[in-house]
Amino acid sequence: MSRIMEKIYALFRMNILIFVLLAATVIALFAYQNGLDDIVFLNLSDYPYVIAETDSADGGSSAVAISRTDSSIIVDYELKEGYAYPYAGVKILLGDGKTKGRDFSKFDSIFVWVKPRGEGTVRIYFRGYDADFYREGDEGSLKFNEVEFFPLEETYPAVFVPQEFRVASWWVAQNEINVHKARVDLSNIPLIEIQTGTNAPLGYGTLEIRGFCFKGKKISKVDLVTILVALWFVTFLIILVIRFFDYNRERAANRKKQEELEKYLAALEIEKSEYEKSSRTDPLTGCLNRAGFGSVLLREQENLTKNGSPVSFVLLDIDHFKEVNDTYGHNVGDEVLVNLTKLIQGKIRNSDSLVRWGGEEFVILCGETPIQNAQFLAEKLRVAIENTQLITQQRITCSFGISEMIAGEDPKRLFERADKALYASKEGGRNRVTSATYRRQAR
Ligand code: GH3
Ligand code: MG
Ligand code: MG
Repeated sequence: MSRIMEKIYALFRMNILIFVLLAATVIALFAYQNGLDDIVFLNLSDYPYVIAETDSADGGSSAVAISRTDSSIIVDYELKEGYAYPYAGVKILLGDGKTKGRDFSKFDSIFVWVKPRGEGTVRIYFRGYDADFYREGDEGSLKFNEVEFFPLEETYPAVFVPQEFRVASWWVAQNEINVHKARVDLSNIPLIEIQTGTNAPLGYGTLEIRGFCFKGKKISKVDLVTILVALWFVTFLIILVIRFFDYNRERAANRKKQEELEKYLAALEIEKSEYEKSSRTDPLTGCLNRAGFGSVLLREQENLTKNGSPVSFVLLDIDHFKEVNDTYGHNVGDEVLVNLTKLIQGKIRNSDSLVRWGGEEFVILCGETPIQNAQFLAEKLRVAIENTQLITQQRITCSFGISEMIAGEDPKRLFERADKALYASKEGGRNRVTSATYRRQAR
């Protein structure tokens, strides 16, 4: 159970940024859907400048009177014949009424509280300023963003989306507005006009204007999506960078570990080969010991059986060595052993193997050597030892016993024959060479 929890935790920790981002995205979308509203009430009492208007400007004879309460503007009018489309209404100045107005372009819906006490439609103009076609001092050059509607009880207040507005086509034609500039633009509205509509009947009527309300989101959908996408992008970039560094660090750590392992292995290898070597050599003289002799013997046995290459076995023993030890001490005895080894090593071939058989007994295994040659070698060594000052105190001599390997025989026999020959040398007065097999062969 706890292992599963650990795994979940590890997964969570690894992707914590993604989890946080996911949560933030869900919260942002939820907040956007259910809140973040931007609501602006246009309180009429904040706008003291209102101007009555009638068709008299177009040659008509309609009449109008404006009065105000605390929160609303009352337009009493009488539409009379004269102009082709008689009308009356009111202008509300939002800014300076010319170039500086209010920006309503960010809103999704526009609420209009206008109550007619008469029949017919109501027309609303959001007059827009645009430097491209505004003529100084000419109010007619403010764009006519228009909506016209029947103000019914059941749809009070009337609600519009900006897309329901149109730019009056007669205004576009009169002012020769480029088609690209002829679309609805609520970004700078210095003036709002509320008038009787196209089909208003002649006679008395009243418009009661109570106010406007604009509703939108504090942040647009496009901005929200852009921010979220950017956030996701940056997060993934961060994750990528972190992963990259993690990967590099891991790789470096692995490489270091591997190097250490290789070093350790190399050290082990050296230790192993040193151990192998030391197990096969005699520590005092440095020549092979009996364990080392085994592999050499095998090689030579094979040489003999496969190639018929003769192998000779030279056994030598220091004469009266006990006396040397007893007279001069064990150290001097050791010195004899070491110097004797050096002397012999210097006189035998590389293919010959010198082995310390034990104590002051040595063996020379001579490959490709018939017994006569071995005897010759032994004689040479005997003379050399006799004539060499191995230690300053006295001369040292050795006795030799020689045998030749017979294919397929037990190596014990080979040694026994050499030992017998050595015994014969000792018996015969020491400092001499006796060849065992030679004699047997001669028989
Ligand atoms: P022989 O001529 O009959 O061979 O007489 P020997 O005294 O050489 O014969 P023996 O086998 O009785 O003596 C061998 C001596 O070699 C006995 C031992 O003290 C000595 N010896 C064996 N190994 C070592 C060694 O590693 N160092 C020293 N210094 N002496 C050793
Ligand atoms: Mg001995
Ligand atoms: Mg001896």
